[in-house]
Amino acid sequence: MPPPSTYRGRFAPSPTGPLHFGSLVAAVGSYLDARHHHGQWLVRIEDLDTPRCVPGAADNILRTLEAFGLHWDEAILCQSRRTAAYEATLQQLQAIGAAYPCACTRKEIADSALHGIEGPVYPGTCRNGLPADRDARAWRVRTNNQPTEFNDALQGHINQHLESEIGDFVVKRADGLFAYQLAVVMDDAFQNITHVVRGADLLHSTPRQIYLQRLLGYATPAYMHLPIAVNAQGEKLSKQTLAPAVTADDVIATLFAVLEFLRQQPPAELRQGSVEEVLGWAIKNWQLGKLKGCLQLPTPACRLS
Ligand code: GLU
Repeated sequence: MPPPSTYRGRFAPSPTGPLHFGSLVAAVGSYLDARHHHGQWLVRIEDLDTPRCVPGAADNILRTLEAFGLHWDEAILCQSRRTAAYEATLQQLQAIGAAYPCACTRKEIADSALHGIEGPVYPGTCRNGLPADRDARAWRVRTNNQPTEFNDALQGHINQHLESEIGDFVVKRADGLFAYQLAVVMDDAFQNITHVVRGADLLHSTPRQIYLQRLLGYATPAYMHLPIAVNAQGEKLSKQTLAPAVTADDVIATLFAVLEFLRQQPPAELRQGSVEEVLGWAIKNWQLGKLKGCLQLPTPACRLS
């Protein structure tokens, strides 16, 4: 009998298209880390940004996970059904003076802002109230310049000064949709997630998420950011960079490519084994020491075409 575990991990894809090699790495990495720790592994469909969602993509992703033997625990949570909860939390943030309405357009911000690590740093124009004759467009969270820090299991100590490096960030967008940063924090807390394993493209979002967790009185999970898969041009695999979809045609070869990308070394004879045998080996031998400090790695060439 495995020892009881409180570990609860998750994979949280956005259904903007089928899984590609990079998103499969996050799925497999979060799954193996959870199972290695005898934990639970949940899947959450992040279908919050409805204009970017593609009909049928969520089902396609779930079928692909199943084909790769990545079976999840519990019911799937869909963000599109959580709007009322997000709205209630926004009101709570507003009530404690942590969120405020903002009238600025993208262009106004771009014209007046300094450039930070993720685009323009909001200059705080609406912090102390909307200018006369202007209507609220988005809602932002008031940040400060105290260091927001955490220790990432692979990337080490991360420290951000949110106010100067990011600026007051959007929690409800001008198009009325809730922002990823708010939804992810609320859903990780709602699902009692203890360990977040995901791609390093989200490393710089984590301080915003920790900042929100503190404002809302939520626990902070442990974080581990895996290297992202990049193409020959050094671009992250994505729909925009035309990354090919992962197919269920050659599951074992693809699983081996993912494991090798993550610097796991399954024995060659397992290439003749079943998906369950490969995953079983990987759960038992999961060890990420070789990836310390690694933010990106080239995608194996065979997975790019
Ligand atoms: N939905 C996000 C994505 O597909 C991942 C969010 C997360 O893991 O926190 O990039």
